[in-house]
Amino acid sequence: MSSTLVCLMLIAAPAAPAPDDARPAVFRITPLRPVAELRREALAATPPREPGPFKPVDLVELTKLDAGIRLDIRYATSDNFLGVPVYEQARAFLQRPAAEALLRAQRALAADGFGLLIHDGYRPWWVTKVFWEATPASGHAFVADPAQGSRHNRGCAVDLTLYRLADGKAVEMPSGYDEMSERAAPGYAGGPAEARRLRDRLRAAMEREGFKVFATEWWHFDYAGWRDYPILNVSFDAIGRR
Ligand SMILES: [Zn+2]
Repeated sequence: MSSTLVCLMLIAAPAAPAPDDARPAVFRITPLRPVAELRREALAATPPREPGPFKPVDLVELTKLDAGIRLDIRYATSDNFLGVPVYEQARAFLQRPAAEALLRAQRALAADGFGLLIHDGYRPWWVTKVFWEATPASGHAFVADPAQGSRHNRGCAVDLTLYRLADGKAVEMPSGYDEMSERAAPGYAGGPAEARRLRDRLRAAMEREGFKVFATEWWHFDYAGWRDYPILNVSFDAIGRR
C-alpha cells in the first residue's frame, strides 16, 4: 500500500468516535418465524394498492444534506429487534420536503451542540411486512400493518436520536431504540430527568418543522405531508436509478 493511499485513508476516517457509547442493550423479540423465510415471502408479495393521485417520488439521501447528519442504521446490522440484518445497505432517505424540514431541525439543534443520528428513514414495504409477521401481537403497537403500509414506506417517517457534537456520542434517552415498552412513549415520566429533557428537545425541534412524534415511540416522527406519497417498495440501491 502506498503512503499516499494511507494518507488518504486517514483523512477519510471519521473525526469523532462512533456514537455508540451511551447505547443501551439492544431490545430483541423472538421472531414468530425465521426471518429468512419471512423475507423470502415478503419480497415476493405485492404492496396494497391505493388510489392516488400522489406527488412525484423524490427521495433524498440524508447524509448528502449536511455533514452533521449521521447514521446508525440498525436494520443493516444485527443490532436490531430481530437480531439479524434486514437491509443490505446502511443508508437513509426521505422525500424532499421532509428531508428539507429535517435539515432545518438539524441546524436548530446544532446551535445547542447536538446533531441528528438517524436510525431509519424510507423503508421498503416488504421490510414492514417482515417486521409485522415476525412480531407477536403484543408488540403490534410498535410495528405498522403492511395492509395499511407504514409512513416509512412513503419516505415520510424518520427514526432518530441526538448525539453531542462535542464528542460524537449518542445521548442517553429514556429508552433504547425500538424498545417495545412504556419507556418508549414520548410522555413517559420515569428515568433520568436529563434523558427526558433531551427527548423533549428533539421532539420540539422536529415538531417545529412539521413532524409529529409517534404515540408509542419517542424516536419516530411522521412528516405532515405523508398522505401525499405512495407506498413504495424500491430497494435503496435502485433509488435515483429509476
Ligand atoms: Zn419509525
